Amino acid sequence: MIDTSSFQGKKAKYYTLGCKLNFSETSTFSRTLYNMGVHEAKKDEQADICLINTCSVTEVADHKCRQIISRMARQNPNAFVVVTGCYAQLESERVAQIEGVDLVLGSNEKADLIQYLSDAWNKFEDEMNEEGTGKYHSVKTKDIVTFQPSCSRGNRTRYFLKVQDGCNYFCTYCTIPYARGFSRNPDIASLVAQAEEAAREGGKEIVLTGVNIGDFGRTTGESFLDLVKALDRVEGIERYRISSLEPDLIDDELIRYCAQSRAFMPHFHIPLQSGSDEVLKLMHRRYDTALFAHKINLIKEIMPDAFIGVDVMVGCRGEVPEYFDDCYNFLSSLPITQLHVFPYSERPGTAALNISYAVDPREKKRRAHKLLQLSDEMTHKFYAEHVGQEAEVLLEKAVRGKKMHGFTKNYIRVELSPTQVKEEYDNQIVKVRLTEFNFDKSALKVELL
Ligand code: SF4
Repeated sequence: MIDTSSFQGKKAKYYTLGCKLNFSETSTFSRTLYNMGVHEAKKDEQADICLINTCSVTEVADHKCRQIISRMARQNPNAFVVVTGCYAQLESERVAQIEGVDLVLGSNEKADLIQYLSDAWNKFEDEMNEEGTGKYHSVKTKDIVTFQPSCSRGNRTRYFLKVQDGCNYFCTYCTIPYARGFSRNPDIASLVAQAEEAAREGGKEIVLTGVNIGDFGRTTGESFLDLVKALDRVEGIERYRISSLEPDLIDDELIRYCAQSRAFMPHFHIPLQSGSDEVLKLMHRRYDTALFAHKINLIKEIMPDAFIGVDVMVGCRGEVPEYFDDCYNFLSSLPITQLHVFPYSERPGTAALNISYAVDPREKKRRAHKLLQLSDEMTHKFYAEHVGQEAEVLLEKAVRGKKMHGFTKNYIRVELSPTQVKEEYDNQIVKVRLTEFNFDKSALKVELL
């Protein structure tokens, strides 16, 4: 039981690092605390509680986590500082030693974070009352089996629904299975209920998030396709996007279903990681380039207008120059819309460190730059092909005198000029004709129909 009385009138600050999953979890924590009487502190206000949800995807992310934790603790010297997330899970002792940290909760404790916080907070308050300086300290990072349900509102228009957590794949460069545990998911009925709630709140679009979403069903015996079909029937939700799907888990049947579904958008995000079969083997990925090419070509055959975003990692161990060339040529040969390029980062404890060939940091940068250029060309071509076409756009926030943005079904970003903006367009779907590129080529201008 949580005693909410001691939280009434308190102020909290939140900081989230990393992926959409973390953002959606933090948003759920802040909503729960809000319902307990804890309001978000303004920038210049002192907080009573600081909650930091960390990430550990690269060395840079680890460093940033330490900086943010120290800074928040320093700037809010009387606050109770809670740290959770992947970095807290992997480096709990190190986090606990940062000056000002009061509670470190690992991934398993996330599901009961508010309960842990409440218990620790009450002790913290008692000690503060008795001695004036007391601090409660605990590190909890058990084996990870719990699931923290989260459905958060992103930018007014979009919700992020967490449908799965953890991963069983153990790719050689990745620490996520250690940080977030094995693959697990809630049942379809509870996710449909969350989508219905989002629709009641006025949500029009939901992004399905998770670590390895295609692995949905491992703990409930259901399938991802069944989840997609059930969500498709939720009234009021006009659009779904799937944040990422491992290539080996995209069934051809799923692609076919999305093509004729009511609300699943022609928009896919697929982590390839490398376009070299040799590197894919070194990474212990569970597919080869032939399977990946088949999925992309099938999507484009059935949905010629589909937007396809692809994750690629450059400079990983073992990626000799000819393997990078293979990757570049493979990517150039496919109808991809955008690349998300990540330079490889060495992670302690990963199997990739046993591969002897390491890429020089400057060469890694050069490869990343080359792929980013390719990505710009791909996206520009895709946008240019759509100029002159009609489209339905879900618009975001209308602000008088400012430009307004939104996305087409196939994820083309559009821009309305200030003179086209009307308040009633807020979170609405409107029909447009795509006319030309905006000034920095990051969106298409439109004519309203
Ligand atoms: S599929 Fe591989 S890269 Fe993705 S989370 Fe799992 S282990 Fe990490």
